[in-house]
Amino acid sequence: METAPIPPISLWRAEFTDAATEQAYRADVQGRMARQLRIALWVWATLLMLFALPDYQALGNSPGFRALLGYRAATALLLLLAARALRTRPYLAPQGHLVMVLEMVGYPFFFLFQFLQPEMRTSTIGMLMVVNLSLFIFVPGRVALGAWVALVGVAGSVASLLLTGTALTLAPGLTLLLTLPAVVGFISANRLQRAQRQEFVVRSRLQQANAALQDEIARRTELQAELQRQATTDPLTGLLNRREFGRRFGLDLARAERDASPLSVALLDLDHFKKINDQFGHAAGDEVLRQVARLSHECFRSIDCVGRMGGEEFAVLLPGATLPQAATVAQRFAQRLAATLVVHGEQTIHLSATLGVAERLPEERTLDAMLQRADQALYAGKNAGRNCVMLALPEGTAQRHAPEPVHSSPH
Ligand code: GH3
Ligand code: MG
Ligand code: MG
Repeated sequence: METAPIPPISLWRAEFTDAATEQAYRADVQGRMARQLRIALWVWATLLMLFALPDYQALGNSPGFRALLGYRAATALLLLLAARALRTRPYLAPQGHLVMVLEMVGYPFFFLFQFLQPEMRTSTIGMLMVVNLSLFIFVPGRVALGAWVALVGVAGSVASLLLTGTALTLAPGLTLLLTLPAVVGFISANRLQRAQRQEFVVRSRLQQANAALQDEIARRTELQAELQRQATTDPLTGLLNRREFGRRFGLDLARAERDASPLSVALLDLDHFKKINDQFGHAAGDEVLRQVARLSHECFRSIDCVGRMGGEEFAVLLPGATLPQAATVAQRFAQRLAATLVVHGEQTIHLSATLGVAERLPEERTLDAMLQRADQALYAGKNAGRNCVMLALPEGTAQRHAPEPVHSSPH
């Protein structure tokens, strides 16, 4: 599979040139980024207040110290308010403007510091170098916005150093000294931003591919289930087809042999079905066949398998049932069927069926053998007037099972 190229990322801003992709990236990182930024703001505010101690040692309780303390406190408060705002508005973090404003407010503090303590110039310069690096490394933001802050910061720092007595000849060197950490910070942050965006694209594509794969798996599982259903059931009635019925017989036979338990089969053929077709139409006949299937779900146990063997002929496997038990079940079904009226449009159709029941003989191992005996009994039932249950006796003869008369069908 060919992989699409990563969407273009601007060299200077390290952001996607495509607005929608950039938006998606920011939405993806905003939660994590807002958390990191909140921690950074808390650390920033704490450090800002901690450094009031050396201020006090150097300046005492002078108006300068109080002005500095005021600036520190106001900035710290602003930082904490921003941290709080990020809690409910995490999208502010990747937008970068909030960070830019805070940096713009925080930076001039060092100019003020320079005016109040010009003799601490060396440590102020060191501090500014750290600040210029931190702009990019510790406070996550958009690199291009950070670069503007650094530019304003460096210009302001050099100006305040010159205004407080630094020789003009030192200006180029100072500018270079202060700019260098900002450049290092910018390049590192730029690379990181770029890498994070590339990783985002790869990760999103992976997620998409994964989702598509999951869909495909679900579709195929569904398809397989549908194919399985089509291969094992009869489309008209939803009952097992002859082949699947044969497979189930194999399973029941194995169990019967293992447990030495009885296994019976009942074969059912609707009476005068041809007449139903002729009189009411083929669609009505189909409805009758579906009705027989519905009724079978109500009458037989879930372990009994009901199959459509063809036409209007059905078979039921009754594991664990002896011949008399199977005959009782068959009888009940025949009675239910005879009592059922199938409504087709304006017409009402009466039904009946003849059933032949056989129990597996000790050495009998095939479905065909059992069905053949059940069929002979059924045939005898048809000859005996239909609408009855006939037992296939082990000796090969058939006997009517009719402890109670089956309701007669008037059609
Ligand atoms: P008997 O009481 O002797 O069983 O008579 P019968 O009319 O039921 O028997 P026969 O086997 O002569 O007729 C079966 C009819 O079932 C013939 C055929 O047209 C019809 N048939 C077979 N399959 C379908 C089907 O899927 N739908 C419908 N409507 N009729 C079907
Ligand atoms: Mg038939
Ligand atoms: Mg028939």
